[in-house]
Amino acid sequence: MIRSLLERVLPSRGPKRRECSGQSLGISAASMSRNAVTVCERLQSAGFEAYIVGGAVRDALLGVVPKDFDVVTDARPEQIRREFRRAFIIGRRFRLVHVIFGDETIEVSTFRANRSDEVEADETGRIVSDNVYGNQLEDATRRDFTVNALYYDPLADHVVDYVGALKDIKTRTLRVIGEPDLRYREDPVRMLRAVRLAVKLNCTIAPAAAKAIRRNAPLIRNVPAARLFDEVQKLLLSGHAQSTLAALREYGLAEGLLPLLDLIYRQPGGQKFIDLALANTDQRVREDKPVSPAFLFACLLWHEVAKRWEALVASGEHRIPALHTAMEQVLDEQRETITLPQRFAGITREIWLMQPRFEVRTSSSALRMVEQPRFRAAYDFLLLRAAAGECDQELADWWTHFIESDPAIRADLIEQRRRAQARAVSATRSGRSRRRGGLGRGRGSRTGDEAAPAADAATE
Ligand code: ATP
Ligand code: MG
Repeated sequence: MIRSLLERVLPSRGPKRRECSGQSLGISAASMSRNAVTVCERLQSAGFEAYIVGGAVRDALLGVVPKDFDVVTDARPEQIRREFRRAFIIGRRFRLVHVIFGDETIEVSTFRANRSDEVEADETGRIVSDNVYGNQLEDATRRDFTVNALYYDPLADHVVDYVGALKDIKTRTLRVIGEPDLRYREDPVRMLRAVRLAVKLNCTIAPAAAKAIRRNAPLIRNVPAARLFDEVQKLLLSGHAQSTLAALREYGLAEGLLPLLDLIYRQPGGQKFIDLALANTDQRVREDKPVSPAFLFACLLWHEVAKRWEALVASGEHRIPALHTAMEQVLDEQRETITLPQRFAGITREIWLMQPRFEVRTSSSALRMVEQPRFRAAYDFLLLRAAAGECDQELADWWTHFIESDPAIRADLIEQRRRAQARAVSATRSGRSRRRGGLGRGRGSRTGDEAAPAADAATE
């Protein structure tokens, strides 16, 4: 009685543990991955605490099917590993354990703390090392958003909440745990996560957390480029790429990630092309079809490549070397913020380099092109370009017809094309000679088969 009175009168001394049954919240062990439940079971029978935590609990409570499962425990990495046949300790900065079940990996980590005296930060306040174990309460408060700090014990069927997360789940609110400016300074990626999760989960970012994003957006530039790539890849492959990118631009975060994006949006047709590419990607993700980050980056950066390519050609460079130069310039500039891993950058280049080759429909190289490993991605890219109106739909349709035909017919299609072109060339020549007594073909023409033989030779 006295205690409850005091609790009401005195300022709260920090987060309190609240426990709710899963059943009352509409979730159960069956909402989780069987393997994640097994991991909890095994750890608990070895005498440890073990919970499913973070995104999976949040998603299940919000009625979204969780895509990956994290478990958290008071066991240390070596103790976790000992309990499983196929378990590997990973990570140098912070060690955690991957427990492998066929094609599913459950990530198991030890409760961690974010004690200001024990973490190492750089001059902007960004945490560079935080390998400190802690208890469950500390683990909850070092997480980014309240809704990400829920713990579910699938065996006891209870949900543990220290930060008012259940209330925020009800109102679909993303609220930063602690002081937003400080938490964004510690890790600016949290701003991207806020925007990505708000779009994915159809949640509202709490006003304080939203305002702090606008204030701290430039800090994104301090994040190592490789980490940004991982985050951007997540958001591009979320199935909500189009709306997430729009939200990032609204919050002023896009600039630090994809500095070329604004330039591209300003170019005629640039926005249309990217919107089409992202809508197409979102559709594929929702249909469970594979999506390649290399393809997406090819789309996002294409207009800047195309613009520079055109300028170089106009200044007298040959088409293919000019394309190489434009590509490398754009990839170099992008590398300063997001490092596109080499294995992806290579594919992105191949997709771009195949574009001029699509214009060559009069030689057997068309037959060989279809056999190339990147043909499909490059062809999808061509379809997008046609849909955005930057190359002839007729060209895209010809290739669709070509790949849908069997090999004997393909050779025929090339032959027909060759004859049609010969007729067109002789008609043009006679027209020209009638008008001006005949002129050679100009270098740098960007469309049509006329320019293609030069392009073809240079890429082979
Ligand atoms: P999703 O998997 O849907 O992208 P998620 O929230 O599960 O979202 P993960 O990267 O899987 O994202 O992270 C798992 C959990 O780890 C989060 O729910 C959150 O509790 C914590 N977490 C992740 N990133 C951060 C961060 N930058 N700062 C603090 N906590 C984080
Ligand atoms: Mg997750």
